[in-house]
Amino acid sequence: MSHFLDRVETALKDEELKGALDRATERLGSRRSASLASLENSDMIRDMARRAKMGLLKDLAGNLETFEKNLIKNGVKVHWAEDGKAANGLLVDIAKKAGCKRAVKSKSMATEETHLNHDLLEADIDVLETDLGEYIVQLAGTTPSHIILPIIHMTKERIGEVMHNKIKVPYTSDPEKLAKIARVKLREAFLSADLGITGANFGVIDSGTIVLVSNEGNARLVTTLPRVHVVVMGIEKLVPNLADLDLMIKILGRSATGQKITTYTSLITGPRRAGEADGCEEMHVILLDNGRSRILGGPIAEILGCIRCGACLNACPVYKNIGGHAYGDTYPGPVGAIVTPGLRGIKGWKELPDASSLCGACREVCPVRLDIPRMLLELRKHAVEEAKIPFSLRMGLWGFGEVASRPWLYKTGARLGGIFARLLAPDGWIKKLPGLAGGWTRSRDMKAPAPKSFQQLWRERAAARPAGKPPAAPTPAREPAHVR
Ligand code: SF4
Repeated sequence: MSHFLDRVETALKDEELKGALDRATERLGSRRSASLASLENSDMIRDMARRAKMGLLKDLAGNLETFEKNLIKNGVKVHWAEDGKAANGLLVDIAKKAGCKRAVKSKSMATEETHLNHDLLEADIDVLETDLGEYIVQLAGTTPSHIILPIIHMTKERIGEVMHNKIKVPYTSDPEKLAKIARVKLREAFLSADLGITGANFGVIDSGTIVLVSNEGNARLVTTLPRVHVVVMGIEKLVPNLADLDLMIKILGRSATGQKITTYTSLITGPRRAGEADGCEEMHVILLDNGRSRILGGPIAEILGCIRCGACLNACPVYKNIGGHAYGDTYPGPVGAIVTPGLRGIKGWKELPDASSLCGACREVCPVRLDIPRMLLELRKHAVEEAKIPFSLRMGLWGFGEVASRPWLYKTGARLGGIFARLLAPDGWIKKLPGLAGGWTRSRDMKAPAPKSFQQLWRERAAARPAGKPPAAPTPAREPAHVR
């Protein structure tokens, strides 16, 4: 796989990606704000939801055992998978034993994480994604770039091209026509499938219920039409009871898409029973660890409370510029910058926690109030402890420490640096910084420093103020950034 910085470089040059991300994240962000504003006591509900999630993490093992018992009582077969390979192996075994050859899937991040489709195809089991976005991703042979909107990076013209090239339908970029074409293809697959695969948005501990929320209704067809239904869910996806589920449903749709409630919320409590009209004949739940236990025992355990709403992606200035693929794994954005190194280990992923300005917008919008910046800092610390710090960086940090601990030296350096920077910026903007600093101006201009520092302005105003009155704080004029 390419290096993170190379992927970022590629993404920053992609104007189409930038336009698509700007439009979608802006729309989702404003819908979220409006929708949460219409929820009475939203702050309290968010606090309660956080308490419920954090509370159950304190005894995750015990809660999982209770959940397992209740699933079994409902006629569900439960399996435990230590990692992705084991989960895929279990699923292939279930399919083979039941004689299943054609699978339909509804959107599931857990199976993206385990690369399930690849292993199913290797085992000669056809698999088709039935969420519209995931279906396009599958046709295009790529991966989702957002937790909620897998094809946020694609324009309708690009989608039209993919469908034209891959399923040989006449080219159109009309979203309604594209959806109709996909619906016909997917209906055929639903009717012939013998295996339905889903993730789970939540698992309700005290009733052994699997909860799926979606806007397309495909999850209902995946769970009811095929003979066998297999759920692959991360072990952290639990909620204690239906009252707590109600809290989660209230904040999930609002934070994800700005809807008061998603169109379909399915609660599945076991396979079809005698006398029931709908449901599968055989139901399995695979509880996936894949590094979650390791996360639980460390300083970023809080991330296991994530309900995968995607709001932190839409609010993140880094995600909005580089999109999801630059993160290199299943989970993008601020949540991915924590989950990926958490699940896969910091080695190979140490750049991800650096992909944040630590502005705190993610913490602000997170419906369960996860302290994402704190966790990113924990991972940065861990990465530094793990890595061999290059000599040049050690010297640079030592030099900065020496200067910063001597105010006269710091001020002189800042003054000289300011003069030099202004010489590089005849029109007030620096187009290219020299040497190592050049990275800063590779994709944007840098504003030249103001001729007078804040402290100088403060002193001047203090000297000019009438006796006994505090000086008004200087307010520098704001100009938009020059992003290339
Ligand atoms: S970290 Fe919070 S905002 Fe981000 S996806 Fe998870 S629940 Fe949503």
